[in-house]
Formats: sequence, C-alpha cells, structure tokens
Amino acid sequence: MSASKKRQAAFLSEQELFQSLTKSAFEFLEKAIAEFEHSTKFSTVNFAIAIELFLKARLMREHWSLLLDKPDQGDKTDFFKGEARTVSPDQTMERLKRIAGVAIPAHFREAFLKIASHRNKMVHFVHADDREDDNATAQIAAEQCAGWLSLRVLLESWPEFSEFENDIWRVGHAMERHRAFLEAKFDSKADVLKEHRDAGKRVGSCPSCKFEAVLIEPPHGAISSGSCVVCWYAGSEIELACINVDCAQPIQFNSYESAPNECPHCATAIDEAFLTEALDTGEGVHQDNYFDHININCSQCTGYHTGVEHHDLYVCVQCLDSSEVMEVCDYCGEGQIGGVPENSYLVGCEVCDGAAGNMRDD
Ligand SMILES: [Zn+2]
Ligand SMILES: [Zn+2]
Ligand SMILES: [Zn+2]
Ligand SMILES: [Zn+2]
Repeated sequence: MSASKKRQAAFLSEQELFQSLTKSAFEFLEKAIAEFEHSTKFSTVNFAIAIELFLKARLMREHWSLLLDKPDQGDKTDFFKGEARTVSPDQTMERLKRIAGVAIPAHFREAFLKIASHRNKMVHFVHADDREDDNATAQIAAEQCAGWLSLRVLLESWPEFSEFENDIWRVGHAMERHRAFLEAKFDSKADVLKEHRDAGKRVGSCPSCKFEAVLIEPPHGAISSGSCVVCWYAGSEIELACINVDCAQPIQFNSYESAPNECPHCATAIDEAFLTEALDTGEGVHQDNYFDHININCSQCTGYHTGVEHHDLYVCVQCLDSSEVMEVCDYCGEGQIGGVPENSYLVGCEVCDGAAGNMRDD
C-alpha cells in the first residue's frame, strides 16, 4: 500500500466506514448466492461473513468503538486502518441489544447463528461441500432463505440502511434462484399439504422459501400460527380490523415481516398503540386492578411492557411473537411471554437480574 493510500485509509470517516462495511456486506451476500450451485461450502462462508458485516455496520452507527473486542483499549487509528480485533457476531447482537437497545428477535438470531455455526464446521474440512447430496443442499438453501428473510426484515426496519433499498431488492431477486433447490422437497410434501386442505384448513405462502407451503392452524382471535413444511419458517398470520371506526377494514400481515406502517385502506399510522388497541382483549389497567395488574414483557425481543392478552394467547405488540404461556418472575413480579426460567427468584427474567444479580452489585 502506498503512503498516501495508507493515510487515506487511516482517515476514513465514520460515515465512509459504515458505507464501506455495508457495501462489502452486499458484495459477500451476492457472491454467496451466485456460487451456491457450485459450492455450498463457499456460499455458506460468504453468507456468514455478509451477516456479520451487516450487524457490525448497524452497531457502528451507535459508536465505532463498540466494534472493538475491548472498547476500553480502543485505538481509533488502528481501528480505522482495519488493524484492531473486532467483536464476534454473537457479541455484536448482544451489544446491539444491551447498549444500543436494538433488539433482534430470537428467531432471527437463531437463523444467523445457524449459518455461522455451519460455516465454522465447513471451513475445517476439505470436502465439506455438500453439493452432491440433494437433501443437504436443500437444507442449506432453506437455511439461507431464513437468513435472508431475517436480514431483509431488519435492514428494511433500520432507517440507517434506507439508501440501500435497491441493493436489498437485487438480493431478494437473486435469492429466488434458491427455490430450484427446494422444489423436490416441496413436491415430496404434496400429501401433507393435501391432508391439511382436506381437513378444511388453510395453506399459506411462505415468506422465507416462497412456496405455498405454510400449514395455517385455526385462529385464536386475530392470530393463526403457521409452519412451513419446506423450510424452517414458523410464524403467525395476523388479521385485525383497523381501529379507525370509519375504516374498520381488515389488515393482514405475518409476525415475521411485522405490520405495515399504516393501514392500507385509510393510512392511519400503525404503531404499538394501534396494535395494543387492536389486539388487547384483556382487562387493561384501571383503578380497581391497578395494584394487581401484571405488566408483561417479551423474552423474544426483550420488549418492556409490550405484552397484551389476546383471547387465550399473550402477544407482544413490538415483535408480534405470541404464546399461550405467560409466567410471572418471582423476583420482580413482572410477567413474561413464553415463561420465565425455573428459578426466576435467583436468576431473574429478561428485565431483571434476580436476587443473585442484586447480590453481585452490592
Ligand atoms: Zn418455507
Ligand atoms: Zn384503516
Ligand atoms: Zn416481543
Ligand atoms: Zn424479573
């Protein structure tokens, strides 16, 4: 590297570094998709790198030093030259959550970590390319579909990436090619789908693999759970009535891609207050139950007081995850969708550290 180039690299601004990380992430992602049919190994490695870069780019928007393995020992010049040790994908997601308050729902994290662990396995073996085995190839194709769905939903919801709209569209288009590797799996599920339809139940289109392969169960109020027989997708379909009484039209969406920003019929903004009003079938808080009322948090997205009762379900108005299970933390007395750890008095819940955590602080 020439002296002048070196100086340039050292003085990359934060905005330039963000741009550079994001562009590089798209490059790796497109490479991953393009080489899928030749080598699932190299495709997986590049896909994993892309996920890592996107998450780092988002974390960087909070502060560049958060990307350092040890932020307190950070040296800005080293970092901007690309010579500092940086965080792992898992740490990146943890810091996004704890420091930046950016929650990545647990099922998205799982999709990312699945690809990361697959990459770790594959890089250690010369013949880790599963391309000869059609089943294994289909598995990896499904894994990448889930990874892309999760990435796309996050990138579209993070305003920091709004200028990359065209890149997102291009990747989405390129990902369509993965369908070819899932065709056989879809065909093999024809009986299961027919049985479901014959039982009078609905089959929906999968936001992850795009096949008409989601088995939709009968609704609990506005929420019907669905699971795809081709890929790993498991989310719910939600159909609620617009809260604007003059409109009251049905609005449909799935829990993965979340609600639209506004009602498609009357353009009323759809925010958490809208979803609470549309979904909360519980008693709400009033004078008589003020002291008995339990606030409900969400373990999927760590949403604080974002849980509402919806018929026999509990649903989070932030990430739209739902469950029949809600348990109260023995330490802080708050509720949590999906339940709390067995010894919650000691270990706490998503919003408290429990007795053990408090003892540590003293
Ligand atoms: Zn699917
Ligand atoms: Zn409306
Ligand atoms: Zn949530
Ligand atoms: Zn608690």
